[in-house]
Amino acid sequence: APGVVIVGAGHAGGSAAAFLRQYGWKGPITLIGEEPLLPYQRPPLSKAWLKREATADNLALRPARFYDQQRIETRLGTRVIAIDRPARRVLLEGGESLPYAHLILATGARPRRLGLPGEALDRVLSLRSAADADALAAVLGPGRRIAIIGGGYIGLEVAASARALGAEAVVIERERRVLARVAGEALSAFLGNRHRAEGVEVLTSTTTEAIEGEGGAACAVRLGDGRRIPCDAVLVGIGAMPEVSLAAAAGLDGPGGIEVDLAARTADPLIHAIGDCTRRPLPLYAREARLESVPNAIEQAKQAAADICGRPPPVPEVPWFWSDQYNLRLQIAGLAFDPAEAVLRGDPAEGSFAVFHLGADGRVLAVEAVNAPADFMAGRLLVARQMPVPPAQLRDTGLALKELAA
Ligand code: FAD
Repeated sequence: APGVVIVGAGHAGGSAAAFLRQYGWKGPITLIGEEPLLPYQRPPLSKAWLKREATADNLALRPARFYDQQRIETRLGTRVIAIDRPARRVLLEGGESLPYAHLILATGARPRRLGLPGEALDRVLSLRSAADADALAAVLGPGRRIAIIGGGYIGLEVAASARALGAEAVVIERERRVLARVAGEALSAFLGNRHRAEGVEVLTSTTTEAIEGEGGAACAVRLGDGRRIPCDAVLVGIGAMPEVSLAAAAGLDGPGGIEVDLAARTADPLIHAIGDCTRRPLPLYAREARLESVPNAIEQAKQAAADICGRPPPVPEVPWFWSDQYNLRLQIAGLAFDPAEAVLRGDPAEGSFAVFHLGADGRVLAVEAVNAPADFMAGRLLVARQMPVPPAQLRDTGLALKELAA
């Protein structure tokens, strides 16, 4: 009998296969992935792995024997090219087709392209897969200089790793601060300063005009103001686009990702979608968004597996995210939609602090914590409780926040 077919063997797809078994699915599970690897973690690709502090084995989500023991059939290096909804089958590259009782789309996201002259040159890189990371690692080393287009999380993490490897890094950011889309002013300022102190050249309010080549490989970035940044390689880190081509061809896409509900259901009752490719409800904020994070991939994997196994949907979690740069551990909980006030707790000069973003009604919408895990944990609870907290209490480092949240 047909079972569950999962398209995309990344963090979300690999997790869904595991949760299906954990929740009691007895039928076949087939996990199909375009990459040649079993599901692995991407976060270290810009951090520990890039700095050579972790090996490829450390990246694997689960050891190979797990898939045998759990009777999860993996089809790696295999691309799904179409979904035939009336026939309930997926078509693989090469002509084979597989039937499904349930289909889970976990196709992730792809790096956004620059769309500028020189993008096709050698040593113009992006970072999504382990193969991308191998190519990046090969150009980083003492005396090398990398130009990083985009001061988002990936760009900044790669800059920090490049410094650790003895390479020079220049970050070119179009907005007037790094992390403009994803962090508040205070955190952006703190991180921008820290990168400069570590020797990274951080150019903000700076546009890129073209990548220049020599002998077919990138050798400089030409900026909008005419300046030229010589380099040995370019990393383009300007965000990712949801991979929705299969879903779109099957009539299941929406603007900005595959639309799903809190059980990860698409408009087709037999098809779920999870992870970076989806646009999902955020019940705490009464809106929808596409989240690109490991915790979200895991949460939606649970939602889909629970629904397929006939269980109620899990209790919605507070969205969260982390990043590591130098000796800084950033942890962010919640999303600062329409913030009215930012409250600082602790002292950025000491390298440990948290910023709480409050809504107009005084509720904690989000917390950004730098080397402040207790504030992160308490902040996450405050976000979940949707409880207004007086700013003076948040500022008072003599007061244990976890008691407020209890
Ligand atoms: P993916 O992990 O991208 O998996 C999707 C898979 O589907 C891919 O392997 C793709 O090849 C495959 N696929 C797509 N289409 C097809 C098809 N038609 N047929 C077959 N296979 C297909 N998140 C954090 O929370 N914290 C971090 O610190 C962090 N750091 C990151 C650093 C880097 C360098 C990157 C790239 C991401 C980072 N993320 C981080 C984000 C996190 O890795 C993603 O949110 C997560 O991987 C999403 O999982 P996913 O399964 O939805 O997508």
